[in-house]
Amino acid sequence: MSEMRIRPRQVLILIIVFLVILLLVHRNGKRTCQGPEFLQAIYAKQTENALPKIYAITPTYSRPSQKAELTRLSHIFMLMPNLHWILIEDSNTTTKVVRNLLTRAGLTERSTQLNIKTPLNYKLKNKDPNWLKPRGVEQRNLALSWIRTNVDPAEHSVIFFMDDDNSYSVELFVEMTKIEPGRVGIWPVGLVGGLMVEKPILNAENTQVIGFNAAWRPERPFPIDMAAFAISTDLLFKYPQAQFAYEVERGYQESEILRHITTREQLQPLANNCRDVLVWHTRTEKTNLVSEIKLNKDGKHSDVGMEV
Ligand code: UDP
Ligand code: MN
Repeated sequence: MSEMRIRPRQVLILIIVFLVILLLVHRNGKRTCQGPEFLQAIYAKQTENALPKIYAITPTYSRPSQKAELTRLSHIFMLMPNLHWILIEDSNTTTKVVRNLLTRAGLTERSTQLNIKTPLNYKLKNKDPNWLKPRGVEQRNLALSWIRTNVDPAEHSVIFFMDDDNSYSVELFVEMTKIEPGRVGIWPVGLVGGLMVEKPILNAENTQVIGFNAAWRPERPFPIDMAAFAISTDLLFKYPQAQFAYEVERGYQESEILRHITTREQLQPLANNCRDVLVWHTRTEKTNLVSEIKLNKDGKHSDVGMEV
């Protein structure tokens, strides 16, 4: 019977062995975490502090689908550790919906919640009667001034205008980390301008943009969508006048900011020499609330006590 007795020293050894195994499993689990190689590379660079910060600028406004749109976007921030989200609400105050969303996504430290309402007299400033509302102008400009005040000009970072209803691949943000100081990165955008894809046309060496395939207003200086480019932040400090404007014609906002800070020749082609589509200009249809409106007439709501 006596040889069956476990001595305290053996217990200690067993505990140590157990802890070592636990540590090894834990470390191994970290190293082989699921996900594509491009994300593994991002995490490795993050540990080395070798990733530029990306400021994603999102104008947003209250409507039934707002939380759904922003939830979709928030998952990209959960995957990319170097992203900072600047959300600018088109309203007189910041809202609880946006605040709650940022909290639940664990993004309070990596986000900035701003607000500015689009003024009602914007139509007067605009000559084109078909261009009813220049969306996001005021909000993006507020974000630009926030960046010019709060970002360290000495640190390399990137800014991107991330509308809330588009569809983005995480890979697009990986591409943005390749943007060089002093340059504007550019790539194709799917489902926009009446085409399957709007894209830059490159020279034979794939080093320079020599044109664009745009079908809608191809005469624009930069006939591209807001989602087609991201800017090295040093350019904002170098060209303090660069921003958006109400006075410009429909489709000219992209050209309005870019004309100050770059030329076609200086653009940096990304996304596999502009052959990969990593962002799509999707648009969400207006939510059908016919039955909700009927309920409301009887003083009832389907979402009592719930945030949808
Ligand atoms: N937006 C806004 N206020 C508005 C309408 C739009 O702040 O009254 C925001 C919207 O949330 C989006 C951006 O501006 O992030 C562009 O708007 P939208 O997606 O409607 O434009 P489009 O798809 O036509 O480019
Ligand atoms: Mn949109």
